[in-house]
Amino acid sequence: MKVDFERAIEEIKRRGSKRVGIQLPDGLRRRTFEIAEEIERRTDAEVIISGNTCFGACDIDLHLLHETDLLVHFAHSPIGEMNKVLFVSVTQEFEIEDLMKEALSILGKRVSVVTTAQHFGVLEKAKKMLEESGRDVIIKKPRRSPNPGHILGCDFSAVAENSDILFIGTGDFHALGISLFTEKDVVVLDPLKNEVRVVNAEKMKRKRYLIVSKCFEAKKFGIIVSSKPYQKRLSLARTLRDKAKKKGLRAEIIYLDTILYETLLNFDADAYVNTACPRFTYDDAELHPKPVITPEEFLVVLGEKKLEEVGVDQM
Ligand code: SF4
Repeated sequence: MKVDFERAIEEIKRRGSKRVGIQLPDGLRRRTFEIAEEIERRTDAEVIISGNTCFGACDIDLHLLHETDLLVHFAHSPIGEMNKVLFVSVTQEFEIEDLMKEALSILGKRVSVVTTAQHFGVLEKAKKMLEESGRDVIIKKPRRSPNPGHILGCDFSAVAENSDILFIGTGDFHALGISLFTEKDVVVLDPLKNEVRVVNAEKMKRKRYLIVSKCFEAKKFGIIVSSKPYQKRLSLARTLRDKAKKKGLRAEIIYLDTILYETLLNFDADAYVNTACPRFTYDDAELHPKPVITPEEFLVVLGEKKLEEVGVDQM
């Protein structure tokens, strides 16, 4: 794992920051003390560590930001400008040659390559191998990130049309999202499992149909809004609430920071519409105590859309 320390140190010195907050995702927290001590040793700054969630670039610890001159947010790429926030990359280098050979055997002539922030380092290598094998390669700039080929769980616009898709990354969340978005198979090159697999969202789609169908009996809807910057869709939530009320349903907006199943249990809604991070809607959906649906799925419940027309939730 390569942390771009030099960028953090340089920027802290350049700004003359005296109190610096640091924010790290779970996977990097084992190195929190090492990172804090390195900053304190090489600059004049005092470091304060955020203990709050750090799920993505949208998840800025605003409280800590107010207490500090600079907040250094590790491992995510920016999805918007914030004055006192510095995004520092953490990349994982790995050999892709053998896995790429396997992926090449199933990819067609035109290939769209996408990845997450941690794996930007191998994007160029993958592109080169694909081109050497005669493929046309597309690495497209998405809407929310400045980095071509960057996939977020809330933005799949880096995937090019009319192409096969190669996703370099771990887990199935992003690949399933891409498949929902494109209605195609996704070839996953997974450096953690050291394998190439094909992911398709057909099963997930059927599960979504089941969850939405449960909402037809619901009378009370909680419309979830997150206070996190770049996740907040308050005006959408207000529109949905008003539409629901017009249809005679009960609907209220629930505004919170981090969405937890336990928090939702205390409310007396029959179902929830999530306008915050789509990951909460899709991940472990079958474990949700009450159905959680996307804004578009809610339009199906309201009779304004057909289920077959619903795409993946994006911001
Ligand atoms: S909203 Fe969710 S998917 Fe989008 S950047 Fe934030 S954590 Fe990631």
